[in-house]
Amino acid sequence: MPMSSVPAFSELPESERDLARQVLGPLGSAQRRAVAKTITLLESTRPDHRQRAEQLLNALLPHSGGSFRLGISGVPGVGKSTFIEALGLFLIGQGHRVAVLAVDPSSSVSGGSILGDKTRMEHLSVSPQAFIRPSPSSGTLGGVAQSTREALRVFEAARYDVVIVETVGVGQSETAVAGMTDLFLLLQLPNAGDDLQAIKKGVMELADLVVINKADLDEAAATRARAQITSALRLFGLHGRPGQEAHNDNVWHPQVLQLSALKGTGLAEFWDVVKRYQALQQRNGQWQQRRLDQDQAWMWERIDAGLKSRFKHHPQVKAALPALSEQVRSGKLAASVAAERLLALVEGQIASARGASQ
Ligand code: GDP
Repeated sequence: MPMSSVPAFSELPESERDLARQVLGPLGSAQRRAVAKTITLLESTRPDHRQRAEQLLNALLPHSGGSFRLGISGVPGVGKSTFIEALGLFLIGQGHRVAVLAVDPSSSVSGGSILGDKTRMEHLSVSPQAFIRPSPSSGTLGGVAQSTREALRVFEAARYDVVIVETVGVGQSETAVAGMTDLFLLLQLPNAGDDLQAIKKGVMELADLVVINKADLDEAAATRARAQITSALRLFGLHGRPGQEAHNDNVWHPQVLQLSALKGTGLAEFWDVVKRYQALQQRNGQWQQRRLDQDQAWMWERIDAGLKSRFKHHPQVKAALPALSEQVRSGKLAASVAAERLLALVEGQIASARGASQ
């Protein structure tokens, strides 16, 4: 629903209006190009690009929200890209349109993105009903998460009805992805149950579904892992999620499935479980709550990023920063004191930069 603060289409500058119309317009190569262009604009750090991107995003926002947002994590080699390719093709076969995004804050360090290499999803990447977008390489997790969140909305406006957000689980990236999706899926290997300690507890707690992949390699091990992880999740359910009783049919209890992404077996069952999850979450109000939480988290991410950026561009901060940094480096000033002085400049509590750098 358009809000009063959302600029009407007619208020957009002409180039943005054309771009927005194309994103919302007929499917095809012009629309694809417009989607790519919009996302590039959103990922740009140039203030003028950013301003145009914000206007564009606001105009597209009322048309977003209609997708199923699926977050996927798992260690490198577990089969994420094989799974996403198989699932994506399966969903396209059922008439869906699938977008794949990635959150990989390490990509700017390693110089490549986990999804930069299109050969990872060879068949999906050439499908006209799929759009694979590599992780933005803007560095910090906050920046990458923000761009991904915004790109997700653009894909929704462009009528992709399943948006998959992949992460490799560097630092807090799983929390970020779980905070922008409707279902968070953790992929595991058949031997995962043998060493439950190795699975980060925090990540297990985020998972709505766990999938044991490569079940074709060792069916017995996969079944064993499934049982072990199921009981571990039950423990989390009892102890880690206060207020949720063990057998409340109105509350989703994380489940464990096994499949083979390579052979494509178990995908239909997987999607059935996802649909059951979706129906239950919509019935018990969790779906709506999670969407509201996603928007709150988005707002706070933008506040954090906005404050930092305004701070860095503040003229008095820029003037005082070199001298204060030098004093910290030479041990003349505690870092915490320097930080406080710089923050006070923004708050207007110190009359002049000169006073702060003395
Ligand atoms: P990612 O790093 O998590 O994206 O993992 P990949 O999808 O690149 O898979 C890593 C390797 O595992 C590749 O050689 C895949 O062919 C293989 N693989 C993925 N899924 C399966 C599966 O279900 N069964 C078997 N046997 N191999 C798989």
